[in-house]
Amino acid sequence: MEKLYGFALKQGIGAPSVPIVKENERVKRGQLIAKCPSDKLGNHIHSSITGTVKSIDETNILIQADEEQSPEFIELVSDSPLDLIKEAGIIGLGGAGFPTVVKLSHRFDNKGTILINASECEPILSHNIKRTEKNPAEIIRGIEIVMDLTNATDAIIAIKGYHDAAIAALKNVLPEKIQIHELPNIYPVGDERAVVRECLDILLDVDQLPLAADAIVINLETVFRIYQAVDLKKPLIDKDLTVAGKLVDSGAIKTYFDEPLGMKFSAMFDLAGGIGKEYGEIVEGGPFMGKRAGLDDYLHKTTGGLIASEVFWNGPEKLGLLVCACGAHKDRLSEIAESMGSEIAGIEYCKQAIEVKGTLKCTNPGICPGQVQKVMALKKAGAQAVLISNCTDCSNTVMSCAPQLKLPVYHATDGSLRACNLKLVRRMKSTT
Ligand code: SF4
Repeated sequence: MEKLYGFALKQGIGAPSVPIVKENERVKRGQLIAKCPSDKLGNHIHSSITGTVKSIDETNILIQADEEQSPEFIELVSDSPLDLIKEAGIIGLGGAGFPTVVKLSHRFDNKGTILINASECEPILSHNIKRTEKNPAEIIRGIEIVMDLTNATDAIIAIKGYHDAAIAALKNVLPEKIQIHELPNIYPVGDERAVVRECLDILLDVDQLPLAADAIVINLETVFRIYQAVDLKKPLIDKDLTVAGKLVDSGAIKTYFDEPLGMKFSAMFDLAGGIGKEYGEIVEGGPFMGKRAGLDDYLHKTTGGLIASEVFWNGPEKLGLLVCACGAHKDRLSEIAESMGSEIAGIEYCKQAIEVKGTLKCTNPGICPGQVQKVMALKKAGAQAVLISNCTDCSNTVMSCAPQLKLPVYHATDGSLRACNLKLVRRMKSTT
């Protein structure tokens, strides 16, 4: 059977890459197939498989994989660590997709801290924590490379306190200059500004970058891929991810390591034992921030999760939407409402959700400003129930008022969490 791999020309933040291969050309695993334009922000793209280029259009390169594949790859050729990271095409793998070479081009003058975001904040996703358990020494090596490049004096690994095995694995190999900070188990403690607040006790404004706190935040898998680029000369061609939900093995949560980029989502579900006969939607990413995807989509650099959600349940005739900056936004909530067969009676935004350059940002992620007024406004607009995307703390607040107003509460994460038999986001306590 023909095995096609798809490589989007635009992956992460920046301009699309420009193909440098032609149709019918033979390519090897690790070979550069699309280049970031030299004057633009973006990233290079390499083939993760050996095969023949089948087609090229404005958005994708499709490659037909050979029957036989080897884990070997064409090595990077640059000399310096920063050039290797650039050549490897590494971007922020936690979902942001910002080119890592740009982030690491900053050098601290005096004190500077590297914050490793190992929070794996979204429920269900668990590949970062499993990778930490598997490869703690390689992760520490990646952090040391980052510290050298940026002249950082300290590094802190931010990880939820309940991940005992991962923390123990890190402690076995931890040098003195790198510390561990245990985070509470709340959403969105992995937001970049929340990580700065939790680790450094500095609350950044919505338009400030971590550099304003003399810090750089970098995702855990990104650090692992930096180690591979610098020490193994390996381009970014493989990805860790979690596959979960309505599988044949129903409710399972499975982690995968070094799966080739460009793989079809359907092939990932096959690897997980097959998708169940009935499911609601495919969610790419985590339950809070994930987006609806299709089985024919391809694994790309920022894909961290694939979840087959629970079949949609019927909602009331009129739903009120309460939008969080750090969870599903208006369009995603509207999509879920439509799948529930509900009309939208009104839309409210958490008062801490501020628009900055076209994106919603929370002024203090995960610390509730109160939601009673917003819920009452939705009731007044005619809502018979509310569909919310709020953080853990704000969902607690909604639960303290909506039931009194006789408004049932649905959360954007319900379909994914139900599919994995996990507790729904309603009244939740923070645990460490
Ligand atoms: S405070 Fe509001 S905007 Fe901020 S994370 Fe919570 S629900 Fe979202």
